[in-house]
Amino acid sequence: MPRDPHVVLRDVFGHKDFRGQQADVVQHVVGGGDAVVLFPTGAGKSMCFQIPAICRPGVGIIISPLIALMRDQVEALKQAGVEAAALNSSLSAEESAEVRRKLRNGQLDLLYVAPERVATPGFANMLSGIDIALFAIDEAHCVSQWGHDFRPEYRELINLVELFPGVPRIALTATADPTTREDIIERLGLEQARVFTTSFDRPNISYSIVERDKARDQLLAFLAAHKGSSGIVYCLSRAKVEDTAKWLSSKGIPALPYHAGLPSGTRNANQDAFLKEENICMVATVAFGMGIDKPDVRYVAHMDLPASIEAYYQETGRAGRDGQPADAWMSYGMADVVQRRRMIDEGNAPDDIKRVEHGKLNALLGVCETAECRRKAILRHFGEDYPGSCGNCDTCRSPVESWDGTEAAIKALAAIYRTGMRFGAAHVIDVLMGKATEKVERFGHQNQAVFGQGADLDAKVWQSVIRQLTASGLIVVDHANHGALTLGEGSRAVFKHERTVILRKDRPKKSIEVRRALDRAATVPPHALPLFEALREERTRLAKAQGVPPYVIFHDATLRAMALAVPKHPHDMLNLPGVGQAKLDRYGEAFLAVVRQVAN
Ligand code: ZN
Repeated sequence: MPRDPHVVLRDVFGHKDFRGQQADVVQHVVGGGDAVVLFPTGAGKSMCFQIPAICRPGVGIIISPLIALMRDQVEALKQAGVEAAALNSSLSAEESAEVRRKLRNGQLDLLYVAPERVATPGFANMLSGIDIALFAIDEAHCVSQWGHDFRPEYRELINLVELFPGVPRIALTATADPTTREDIIERLGLEQARVFTTSFDRPNISYSIVERDKARDQLLAFLAAHKGSSGIVYCLSRAKVEDTAKWLSSKGIPALPYHAGLPSGTRNANQDAFLKEENICMVATVAFGMGIDKPDVRYVAHMDLPASIEAYYQETGRAGRDGQPADAWMSYGMADVVQRRRMIDEGNAPDDIKRVEHGKLNALLGVCETAECRRKAILRHFGEDYPGSCGNCDTCRSPVESWDGTEAAIKALAAIYRTGMRFGAAHVIDVLMGKATEKVERFGHQNQAVFGQGADLDAKVWQSVIRQLTASGLIVVDHANHGALTLGEGSRAVFKHERTVILRKDRPKKSIEVRRALDRAATVPPHALPLFEALREERTRLAKAQGVPPYVIFHDATLRAMALAVPKHPHDMLNLPGVGQAKLDRYGEAFLAVVRQVAN
C-alpha cells in the first residue's frame, strides 16, 4: 500500500501544498504511470520523483549525471530523515559496500547513480531481486545530441524498459527547446508516457543585455548591486576566467576561479566555498554550474555571448532557484560573434550540425538585438506566447530606439518566399542586395523581382533585420533542412500590411546600468531583519559543524518565514514552509533558542 503523498510532503519536506503540477505528476507516478516532466529550474522537479520513490514500495533509482548534484540531493534528503544514498566513483570501497548492503536489505528509499553505471551488466545484476519503486532520469536532455550536454551513456537507458518491465519511469529536464523535447521522448522510448509541461518563465529573474564597452567597469557596476550575495560570472576562455577572478579580487570582491583546467583539488575547494559561503563570486567557464543546486544564487553575469538561447536560458536559470529576485546580465560585443562563428566552423561537427549551431547563434543575437521585451523573445523561442511585456527586463525598463521596419520585413520575407524557402540568411541577403553571385546565377534568382530591392540598406542591417524577424517568429529557421529560412506564422499579415513590424534601431546602447541593490533588506521587512540575520548566523554555525551547505539545513525562505512568525513552540515551527518532522527534531530547539534570545 503506497504512502499518501500529501502526508509525506508535510511530514518529511514540511510543505502544506504541492506547487503547480507537482501533485498531478506525483499522483500519476505513484499510481505506476510513466512521465516526462518538462519544468523550468526552480519549479520543484526533484519532488516529482522523490515523493513517489518514498511513497511506492521499494527503492527509487535516480539516474543523475553529476556527482555534485547527487551529493547535494542525498545530503538534503538525509537531513529530512529520508534513507538516501549515492553510488559513484567518489566513494571508497567500504562506503560502496555499505550502500550495496543497504540496497540488498531494502533499507533505501532512493539510490542515486551515474548513467555510465546503469549501462553496465553488473548494475542489472545488482538490482535483480530487488523491489524497485521507479526509475527517474534526471537532466534527461543529456540523451539528445540537440541538447547542450549530450552524454552517450544516456542512450543506453532505453534498455531499462526491457530489463525492468512494469517499473514506472520518469524523465525530467529543464530544457525547453522543442526539438530536444521530442528527441528525449523518442530516445528513451517514452512515447506512451504522460507529458507534463509548464511555462518556462522565470518571473523572478530580471534580464539585461548590454553592448560591451569597458567590460570590466560594466561588470563592477553590476556587481556593486550584489554585495554580500552569491553569484556566477561566466567567461568563454580559461585565461579570461583567471584574469577576471584575479582582477575582481584586487577590487575587494571575494571572487574565485573555476574551469576544467584547474587542478581538481582547487576546483573542488572553490566549488565547496561557493556552496558553503554566502558571498562568493564564482568566475567560471560553463563547465561550472550544471548540477549545482544552490538555491540562493542572486546573479549570473555573462562576460561573453553564450552559444544559444537554450544555453543562455539554462545558464541564467542557475540564479534564483529559491524564487527570490535575481539578476541575469550579459555584456557582449561583435567580436564575440566572430569568435563563436569560428568555434563552430573549426569544430568537428558534421556540416548539418554546424548549420544548426549557426542558426541557434543567430536566434540568440535576435534576442540581444530585439526592441521588444527580452522575456517575450526568449519564451517565444520555446514556443510560448508571453502576453504583454514583463516590466522586469532592460528593454521594458528603458525602451530602445526603434524604426518602422515593415517595408524591410516585406522585402526580406518576399526574398525568402521567392527563392523557395530553401536558403540561409547569406544567400537571401545577396538576393536582396542584388549581388550576382555564382549561387544566385545558378538558381536564376537574379530574375526575381525582389533581386536588388534591398540595396538601400547595407548587409549588416539586413542581418539584423533577419535576426530580429527570426526572434519575433515571422521567420522560422528550419534546422532539419540545413538552416533554411522559412516563413513563420503572421508573415501573411505583414505582406498584406495588416501588421507593422517595429525593429530596433541600433544594437543595445553602451551603458553602465545602475541597478537597485537586491540586498536582503529588500525581501525582509526592517523590523524582522535582526532576527533573520541571527537565524542565518545560527544556520551557518550548524552547517559548518557538519560540513554541509547552509541551504540543506533551511532555505532563506524558511528563515524569513521564521523571522516573521516568531515561533514560540515546536509545533509553531511545523507550520513554517520547509520544516518537516526530522528537521524539527534536529534543529527546532537551536533555532527556537535564537528566537527567544533575539525577539525578547
Ligand atoms: Zn520585459
